Amino acid sequence: MAEGVDENIPVFELTDTNTKVIHVGSFGNLWRERLTSHDVSLAEEPTQNLATDAELAADLGCTEETAAELKLLCSVDALKCGENEDLDSQNIPEDSNLVTLGIRRKVVERRKAMVIDHACRQETLRYEMEYHALGKRPQDSSNMIEEGELLLTLNIMYPVIFQKHKDYKPYATMLVLGSQKLTELRDAIKCVSDLQIGGEFSRNPDLAPENICKDLFKSAFFYFEGIFYNDMRYPECKDLSRNTIDWAESRDRGYGKFQSAKMEDYTFNDLRIKIGFPYLYCHQGDCEHIVTITDIRLIHYEDCLDRTLYPLQVKKHWFWTRKCYVCKIYTAKWVTNEDSLAPDDPCFFCDVCFRMLHYDTEGNKLGTFLAYPYVDPGTFN
Ligand SMILES: [Zn+2]
Ligand SMILES: [Zn+2]
Repeated sequence: MAEGVDENIPVFELTDTNTKVIHVGSFGNLWRERLTSHDVSLAEEPTQNLATDAELAADLGCTEETAAELKLLCSVDALKCGENEDLDSQNIPEDSNLVTLGIRRKVVERRKAMVIDHACRQETLRYEMEYHALGKRPQDSSNMIEEGELLLTLNIMYPVIFQKHKDYKPYATMLVLGSQKLTELRDAIKCVSDLQIGGEFSRNPDLAPENICKDLFKSAFFYFEGIFYNDMRYPECKDLSRNTIDWAESRDRGYGKFQSAKMEDYTFNDLRIKIGFPYLYCHQGDCEHIVTITDIRLIHYEDCLDRTLYPLQVKKHWFWTRKCYVCKIYTAKWVTNEDSLAPDDPCFFCDVCFRMLHYDTEGNKLGTFLAYPYVDPGTFN
């Protein structure tokens, strides 16, 4: 790194993969020091700050007339597809070798060829999710995001839960504010393992407790750059990282010294991280999600400016839902093993079909089977 260059300006450690370590808050400060209040303004319609002809002429070293002509020729209004054609997103010129136009042409052709709107529906939902909060301003002005706030983009991988996803890891993308606590992200991450209900309830399905694992096992941690940030907000929380730290220290295993800290005491601005580097979120003991910070930037006046909507989910994977084996309509709520009444092991049922098949009118168990409450990964679709 060149001397005098601030260590908190991200530079690649591995080309196109991840940067060296930076301190998030200091990186934000570097921007704020250099930018004017106009640059970071979140006002609804920032005043156009175009250079005057005279300023442009001075910058380019030409006459004012030339500057005025250049401004006209290079304006957005002057953009044409062909000689006299206006820009048309559906009509793509054949003779262009621009890669972006090639991609655009493929999308347009695929849409035309589509017979069922299935794929289209998913596409629409995806775009909707990405854009639904754009430009949103809070009703209560106290929830307005401050100018110069940092915005981090995080990809949170799901643990591999299906054979189908063995090679491709589905993930969700969240936007968090630099001033938000790590616990705010932790509370916003949705994972089915938080919703599981433990136990076998074939004798009396009504006894299946309402308590989900998230209420019972509240421990979790994030791991960034040698530090485990443990969620210790509740008395029943355990330091899940203790075992790993002890293991690493028990012999000289070459991992250096890990530290542990409280998740609730840290904001994203406080972190030292590498952009693009895989870190970890672990909850429910062993449900491990890779977390990658893919981007850090200043908030913009066209972003969602309602602080209460962050962490903001902008992308998620759509899981196929597992349907009831009997009605094939409703999402499965029960899974059975060693079921004398079922064709498959395991076999999945919705609540209604499960009870109709496995119990008489008095609620007595019929046949032999083991029954467990089932939470479908598609629950969050
Ligand atoms: Zn999980
Ligand atoms: Zn059913």
